[in-house]
Order: sequence, then structure tokens, then C-alpha cells
Amino acid sequence: MDNKDCVFCKIIRGEIPSTKTYEDDKFIAILDINPKTPGHTLVIAKDHFKTLLDTPTSLGCELMDAVKNVSLDLVKQGKAEGFNFIFNNGEVAGQIVPHVHMHILPRKSGDGLKMLV
Ligand code: AMP
Ligand code: ZN
Repeated sequence: MDNKDCVFCKIIRGEIPSTKTYEDDKFIAILDINPKTPGHTLVIAKDHFKTLLDTPTSLGCELMDAVKNVSLDLVKQGKAEGFNFIFNNGEVAGQIVPHVHMHILPRKSGDGLKMLV
């Protein structure tokens, strides 16, 4: 299931370049083009669902598995000591790309990033 005009669907189809750091049958992870911290990564479902609310529950659970796997790799590579996971759902919540994805923000002591909560 994909959407012809969606930027993430275009990345998944290989029509737009990206730096892919992980792939399985249901998800890809790419580096965010506008990183908030070094290694800022997006874990993106291969199927086009807009938000978690219209994503099948099982796929939403599997998204967390993929997020965990990518995060463990970042720790192993020495690129993270901790994480913030950001999940924007809906335009009003700051979602710019309407294709379900989780932000992984790798954190290191002294990185200076200020979070909302
Ligand atoms: P949001 O929809 O607000 O949760 O965030 C969408 C994210 O996608 C933003 O952090 C953008 O920097 C990122 N983004 C948009 N286009 C691309 C692209 N072509 N490659 C990588 N990241 C992108
Ligand atoms: Zn899409």
C-alpha cells in the first residue's frame, strides 16, 4: 500500500535518495535530513498509513521492535547513551509528513538538546 505523492513512499520506492541504516520486510530507517541531534533517525513503515490511529495494531507493535533494534545498533556503534523517541501524530501535533514514522533522537551527555517534557 503506497501513495504516489508521499515523500516517504518515494524514498521507499527508491525515487528519492536517502541514507538507509536499517531495513526489514515492514520498515526502513533513514537519517533525518534535518537532524536535531547527531544520528537523528526515522523509522518508517513501508506501508502508507497516516498515523498510529489508522495503522493496524500489530504493525504498531512491530514498529516498536524496529525502533528498539535500530536504537540498540546506535548504542553498539557508540552513537547514543540514551534516546528520546518522538511520535508526531496529526498536523496539529507537528506531523509534517503524513506517513507513520517514529523519530529516534540519540542523546549524549552535554548535547544541550532541550525537550518539551
Ligand atoms: P514529522 O512529520 O514532523 O514527524 O517529521 C518529518 C521529518 O521528516 C522531519 O524531521 C524532516 O526533517 C524529515 N524529512 C522530510 N523529508 C525528508 C527526506 N527526504 N529525507 C529525510 N528526512 C526527511
Ligand atoms: Zn507514504
